Amino acid sequence: MPLYLDNAATTKISKEVLDEMITSLENFGNSESKYYSFAENAKKDISLARERISNSVGCDKDEVIFTSGATEANNLFIKGLALANPDKKKIIISSIEHSSIYETCKYLETKGFQLVELNVDKKGLVDLEQLDREIDANTLFVSIIWVNNEIGTIQDINEIDKICSKHNVLFHSDATQAFGKVKIDLSNYNALKLLTFTSHKIYGPKGIGTLIIRKDDGIKLKLEPLFHGGEQENNYRAGTLSNELIVGFGKACEIMHRNLEKNHFHMMELEKALIELLKNKFKDKLIINNDFKERVPGIINVQIKGLNNMILLKKLSPYIAASTGSACGVSKPSRVLKAIGLSEESIDSSIRLSLSHYQNIDELLIINNL
Ligand code: PMP
Repeated sequence: MPLYLDNAATTKISKEVLDEMITSLENFGNSESKYYSFAENAKKDISLARERISNSVGCDKDEVIFTSGATEANNLFIKGLALANPDKKKIIISSIEHSSIYETCKYLETKGFQLVELNVDKKGLVDLEQLDREIDANTLFVSIIWVNNEIGTIQDINEIDKICSKHNVLFHSDATQAFGKVKIDLSNYNALKLLTFTSHKIYGPKGIGTLIIRKDDGIKLKLEPLFHGGEQENNYRAGTLSNELIVGFGKACEIMHRNLEKNHFHMMELEKALIELLKNKFKDKLIINNDFKERVPGIINVQIKGLNNMILLKKLSPYIAASTGSACGVSKPSRVLKAIGLSEESIDSSIRLSLSHYQNIDELLIINNL
């Protein structure tokens, strides 16, 4: 079996998560039903998961709004805010957002919204002065990805929050690749009222994620739902909740939150070993695209000079399972690598290798066989 190095695309479900999900399948009742035990048991399962998730990011339990994943969460806040605030028409994002933010905002652009894409430097860090200049009274929200999915850059969320707070503008962050890799405590922020993350990137099941919608001094944020026809999730997201997926997501969050520090050091060791092995193998043909500061370990973006990335991935596939970048935009050249200044030729040679916390150095030795 090839070594799986595409953990930024999705991860293998962990055994502990799976065990809790299987148990929860017995609690098949609809959590919204009343009085009988099937519903009460489902309700208890969901309540525990909500508690685990809220504890892991420092928010209240009723601020956790379940969605089918990060794509839906991002669509929900973008379209939901646009519909609820027809007087505000300017949207500010970074030029390295995931396509579920970028394409949704591009769609709104066709509906009369003004979209500003902030520049990033070579490391992928957002131009904060430009952000400060761009925010005005017409600004609906600012959305900046916490950790980038192709190059792992960690944004200065504290500073961005301060700038948004100074201008009294709503701040969202896509924390899909940040959760479990950087400490997230929403109680530390003022403007950061919206946060997205998803279960299948943290060894949980697919098909479940969340949009955290923080209250403002106890007042519910005005946001139109995408789905109508049910009062679930504080009227933000209609539809019967999936107990087993939610239980799995809750358990995955609890494990990742508990092991944050330990995982970080393990990932640094793994990444160091991976880079050494690649350097030994490819010598001066190896070019590393990402910067080593302000970045989470575990996502590396590399070029093998002169080799097309698709040909390379195919050649590697008996040994290594990897990708050219985001699985959600494979047919187009990477916007992210372009934004950090890579030439088209370099982008065409680049691949992303992303590690799992459950891997060990011995498994990486397969690289010697390439
Ligand atoms: N945002 C980021 C940063 C991601 O990496 C991904 C997954 N590729 C998504 C959003 C979409 O997540 P999901 O698959 O849960 O819709």
